[in-house]
Amino acid sequence: MESCGLYIHIPFCLRKCNYCDFISFEYKKELAEEFLLALFSELSLLSQEYDQTILETIYLGGGTPTCLSGEELARIIEGVKEHFPVKEGAEITCEMNPATGVEKDLKIMREAGINRISIGVQAFDDRILQYLGRVHNLSEALKTYYTVREVGFDNINLDLIFAIPGQTRKDWQDSLEIALKLNPEHLSLYNLKIEENTPFYYDYLNGKLKPVDEDTEYWMYQDAINTLKNAGFEHYEISNFARPGYASRHNLGYWHYKPYLGVGPGAHGFFGSLRYQNTDDLEEYISCLTRNKLPRQEELHLTCKDQMEEFVIMGLRVLEGVSLDEFRKRFGESLLEIYGTQIKKLIKLGLLNLKGNYLALTEKGLFLGNEVFAEFLL
Ligand code: SF4
Repeated sequence: MESCGLYIHIPFCLRKCNYCDFISFEYKKELAEEFLLALFSELSLLSQEYDQTILETIYLGGGTPTCLSGEELARIIEGVKEHFPVKEGAEITCEMNPATGVEKDLKIMREAGINRISIGVQAFDDRILQYLGRVHNLSEALKTYYTVREVGFDNINLDLIFAIPGQTRKDWQDSLEIALKLNPEHLSLYNLKIEENTPFYYDYLNGKLKPVDEDTEYWMYQDAINTLKNAGFEHYEISNFARPGYASRHNLGYWHYKPYLGVGPGAHGFFGSLRYQNTDDLEEYISCLTRNKLPRQEELHLTCKDQMEEFVIMGLRVLEGVSLDEFRKRFGESLLEIYGTQIKKLIKLGLLNLKGNYLALTEKGLFLGNEVFAEFLL
């Protein structure tokens, strides 16, 4: 049996946020039911193709999974277990929006086996939340956090965004301090990206939105690293911080280049040398599965070169770095020989470090990750 992760994309949101380009549609009860039936059919088809796999982690992401009721989410977990064996102690995460997920639903989710909650707080600041177009406010975020805790979840992540136009370093620090007072096990911190075809993108094109300058963004990132490290968090991935023992096992699977299956509209999967992407059109997704056909938009058979590139680029995101032994075990070649020129150049620039068996980003490299990754494209 091969271990793998499972990502489930729930394509519904209460309302679209101003910066978001994720695949999500307005939640409607009848549509959600059609989606669930299609999802079960996809799980069934996949389980026939991958009948020698056991799930180590399950991640319900979106969209807003908690647009669905506790019962509906429990049905999904049941559906997964009907088609795939799930390892004892598997990590099962569900993302939630602070404006959704009431106590009753959370209790049902916990009973269904969900053991990790990731709350999309984004900012503890009403002015900024409103600017982002979030549907929740500060007091709802706090209330939701306490409810999740009271229901008994002992592994909670908070998502926060920085480098938002109009957000000062002080605003950002205030959000971090509030987050720390809540004492979550995990924090994911993302810098705001202006994605194409979002309201923010059009504001940017019209000159109404001025992105935060690079210096401020850099210092916001450094402020976060210092604040969270001082509070006892491990900075284990470019954007992720955890209390010891609480790193996200599902996401570590991606960064360690382990196989995963993805179900739902727009979901990706990676298994063996196959990388696939589902259609992001919800109607087409449902229609394919009604005809018992996998809703694939793209299937790519990765060459050895593709896999080497991805292995290094994903692995460098983790602060521990890429294991030279793992690279050799997987590809039968030496990472230092294949990428000798690039590695020498990046070490000289102070962006990479060689620490024993690991090649890792330096502190400077953490902020310039994309520049470093570009060097590893063969
Ligand atoms: S809640 Fe999340 S997925 Fe939904 S629109 Fe907002 S950012 Fe996008």
